[in-house]
Amino acid sequence: MHQNRLFNRTRLQLAAWYAGVMGAILGVCGVAVYLHLAETHFEAIAGEIQTLVGSLHDSIEPMLEKPGELHPRVRQILPGLCVGGQLCRPVKTSHIHVLGADYQDPYYVRFTNLSFQTLATVNTPPPPDSAAQGKNWQILTDEKGRRYHQFSMVLTTSAGQPWGYIQVGRSLSGYQRYLASLKVFLLIGLPIAMVSIGGASWWLAGLAMQPVYNSYRQIQQFTADAAHELRTPLAAIQATVETTLGTENLNLIEAQTTLQTITRQNQRLAQLVQDLLMLSRMDLKVLPTKHQNCCLDDLLHDLVEEFAAFAISAKVSLELSIQAQDLYVVGDEEQLYRLVMNLITNAIQYSYPGGTVMLRLLKEDSTAIIQVEDTGVGIETAEQARIFDRFYRVNQDRSRQTGGAGLGLAIAQAIVELHKGSLKVQSQFGKGSIFTLRLPLKT
Ligand code: ADP
Repeated sequence: MHQNRLFNRTRLQLAAWYAGVMGAILGVCGVAVYLHLAETHFEAIAGEIQTLVGSLHDSIEPMLEKPGELHPRVRQILPGLCVGGQLCRPVKTSHIHVLGADYQDPYYVRFTNLSFQTLATVNTPPPPDSAAQGKNWQILTDEKGRRYHQFSMVLTTSAGQPWGYIQVGRSLSGYQRYLASLKVFLLIGLPIAMVSIGGASWWLAGLAMQPVYNSYRQIQQFTADAAHELRTPLAAIQATVETTLGTENLNLIEAQTTLQTITRQNQRLAQLVQDLLMLSRMDLKVLPTKHQNCCLDDLLHDLVEEFAAFAISAKVSLELSIQAQDLYVVGDEEQLYRLVMNLITNAIQYSYPGGTVMLRLLKEDSTAIIQVEDTGVGIETAEQARIFDRFYRVNQDRSRQTGGAGLGLAIAQAIVELHKGSLKVQSQFGKGSIFTLRLPLKT
């Protein structure tokens, strides 16, 4: 296949399409996974912030008495509380465990009055965004460009008056680092995956093309064989005609010999064309096949009768052994006749003078078995699988003498398949062969 440009180009195109489609699917999936992970991570951060705000709100609100004033007990809940914007000393992390001070991105808390002026803070919040003051969720940016996610909630005094706001947030640096590493993973992983997909596509395209290529080779071989088989009798006719035309004073005997040669070659051509036509019709499943009740005993008796003269002329003894009687199969009698006839013809043709061809009819469960056994030349094990191929002859020169084109067993096999049977060969080189035909019996 590698040498064939057409197949190589098609394989490349197939691989490119496959890799392209797989790459596009992978790319879309990669982007979808990235977006999904980014969103779930962001939602997880928001959920944590909201939970923290909720629990601080529940524990602090009962202590609030006057709007804008923080009760000293709030410091017990938030030990790092820095009131009035004074410079606070760093807080011992263990005291504000609730705010995750030991995390890379700890939470901050900011209390503001109703006009959003800062009253107290824990950790270091980013500067407030005056444009988004009233919103629950805000994304803030500090002077270094770091981004923060913040949630605000109204606090009320124990008397139910609005007290001010509690704002809890945390830096998004960790989240951004996570997204950046995810991007790097996808940007490096996707090209590596694409290269692997490209290799796999090339290999898969090769696998997919192989059966097509095999059929293409078979058709090429078949065309070459058919042309060769047709050329031989045509060349013989041409040579005979040319010789005759070149003969001066052609007498009647010479003319008759020429015509006999032409008739013989013509018959060979007609037989070949008929066989090819039959095979192609069977391939296309357009060969009319009758469904008759065929009696195999009668069929074998008829064949033995017909081939008796041929066997005598080949000095071969043709014997019949019917071991099960009244065996009927459903099929086309003419085709079944042709099938067994091909096996008997071969058995006689490839037998030595003085040999025996034994024809047997047996029954095994619901199957009829016809065996054609000869004591002829036999077939080497390596050749046994190939003899059913079209135009295949074990020994081209030797078979030439028999006049066969190598289509007999191919036709036999095609007929067997049409009748849902099987045809097997057992052979020992130099000793003989047994062809075993199995056909389902009529039920
Ligand atoms: P052909 O027309 O050449 O006989 P077939 O398709 O009938 O073609 O057989 C294919 C080849 O199988 C033959 O050329 C022959 O070499 C081999 N073969 C078939 N039957 C026998 C047999 N009974 N004994 C030995 N060789 C056989």
